[in-house]
Amino acid sequence: QSKGPSCAGCGAALQTAEKDKPGFVPEAALKREPVICQRCFRIKNYNEASTVALDHDEFLRLLGSIGGTDSLVVHIVDLFDFEGSLISGLQRFVGGNPVLLVVNKIDLLPKGTNYNRIRNWVQRQAKSQGLRVVDVVLCSAKRNMGFEHVIDALEQFRGRRDVYVVGATNVGKSTLINRLIRDYSDLDRELTVSRYPGTTLDAVRIPLDDGNFIIDTPGIVYPSRLTEMVPREVLQALLPDKPIKPFVYQLNPGQTLFMGSLVRFDYVDGERLSFTLYVSGGLPVHRTKLERADELYAEHKGVLLSPPNAEQLAEIPAWTRHSLRIPRGIKTDVFISGLGWIQVNGDSGALVEVYAPKGVKVLTREALI
Ligand code: GDP
Repeated sequence: QSKGPSCAGCGAALQTAEKDKPGFVPEAALKREPVICQRCFRIKNYNEASTVALDHDEFLRLLGSIGGTDSLVVHIVDLFDFEGSLISGLQRFVGGNPVLLVVNKIDLLPKGTNYNRIRNWVQRQAKSQGLRVVDVVLCSAKRNMGFEHVIDALEQFRGRRDVYVVGATNVGKSTLINRLIRDYSDLDRELTVSRYPGTTLDAVRIPLDDGNFIIDTPGIVYPSRLTEMVPREVLQALLPDKPIKPFVYQLNPGQTLFMGSLVRFDYVDGERLSFTLYVSGGLPVHRTKLERADELYAEHKGVLLSPPNAEQLAEIPAWTRHSLRIPRGIKTDVFISGLGWIQVNGDSGALVEVYAPKGVKVLTREALI
């Protein structure tokens, strides 16, 4: 089935009829070389993306069609939002094709992190999620770390096959593909990269010199991530751009931390413990007594406790409370998808409660660091 002309930015089929559909381009702009859709034009020139919802069923269909090919599947996940960006059931959809797990954004880890440990951790987590991977590669697409390993692994595992790149939105897939285009193919064409989720629309085929292709698929929107729920201006504060500076809090039971007005963390029961926050520095933390927390929130949300501000807060789902038991003897993270995680130090066990917007994935896991 042949396709008409497509946008050189996002790959969507170009059309001049419907303004708010993917691939729209004004008649006059069709003469530009290369042609990009209006949406990509805006992103490139004004750094402004409109949100386009991707159809979940379409995405599954697309994954399913990969199952019928003979290819290498490269699954990109965001280390900072690992559980939030791992495509569950990927194995089932891609059939017998090998999966290479590329873990992006390692530049966000604090200086001095032991990458071997991280790699082993990723391997264990993937396995426990039922994902068999041929290898795990750590990289930072943005800061160009570990990229030679990505290319080596591609060469090692693809043979003479196509490469399908799949991932949730905002994991850095476009950034990585752009780097592949520069370093690995001779196609002089840039994809659209933006700070906002959901900006890669349609499959883009990038020729390799042996006649095969790298195929960049649309990102799937996982709504269980905080990053998918907040208005754009708040996203800036949420997505770290520099290595995380872990912040340690010594807490007694009966103390509360507010992260802006987005998330509340209560230390309910246990011994005096230290907690290490791995969250973006753009989100100020307030410590208070648990017994004062309700009142403080009611009075100061969106003002003293911000971002988000009051207006933005109104657009975000209300909180639900998660009671989490921290097991004895196992170093544990409290993971909040899209925000980061809080490491519980000490092995005496504890009870904590997390308030997060309804729908956000909150869980405990073996500590990453
Ligand atoms: P896509 O939706 O998966 O295509 O993601 P993009 O490539 O548009 O990137 C989403 C956001 O993550 C942008 O703000 C990027 O600047 C950022 N990003 C991408 N790669 C990295 C990385 O390696 N490290 C960091 N810190 N940020 C990254």
